[in-house]
Amino acid sequence: MKDMKTRLEELPKLAEETKKETKKYFSNLKRRTPKNLDYVMQELHDAEFKKTDCLACGNCCKTTSPIFTEKDVERIAKHLRMKVAKFESQYLERDDDDFMVLKSAPCNFFDESDNSCFIYDVRPKACSEYPHTNRKKFIQITELTLANTEVCPAAHSIVEELKKKLPLVSKIKKRRS
Ligand code: SF4
Ligand code: SF4
Repeated sequence: MKDMKTRLEELPKLAEETKKETKKYFSNLKRRTPKNLDYVMQELHDAEFKKTDCLACGNCCKTTSPIFTEKDVERIAKHLRMKVAKFESQYLERDDDDFMVLKSAPCNFFDESDNSCFIYDVRPKACSEYPHTNRKKFIQITELTLANTEVCPAAHSIVEELKKKLPLVSKIKKRRS
């Protein structure tokens, strides 16, 4: 396994190269979803995060915003001893899909000195579940996962491993002439 610096440097080009093939793969996967897909994803996710250290990366926190639910906002504002309205006006805005997201990147709660999170124990649910590669009913989030392969080196590796583990070869109908 390459070091994280190299993985992050190579990711944009790699993700661009695999994007078309992954899109096609997910589209086939939707048509013929194996019953054990969630089980396989959980295995691949666990294996990947045994060797990938998020504290050596932090790319999700540096470049993208999680969605903040009402519950997230209430919990984090309380932790920071801030009023919800003040927290929202200071850090958040509504995106085009009407979700509450950070106004800027890197995340305000990201510690660039060691890639840690200042509010780790109360962080948004979307952060604790990122990159969602062990999500139940994974088949419902393939578009999101495709986008995440451009941000998260672990998500990219997991999807590449999935393609190897569950190759979807088109069935060729045999016929006699
Ligand atoms: S809240 Fe924490 S885990 Fe979530 S994006 Fe910000 S720094 Fe990262
Ligand atoms: S979840 Fe992915 S992008 Fe975020 S820190 Fe871990 S490896 Fe990096």
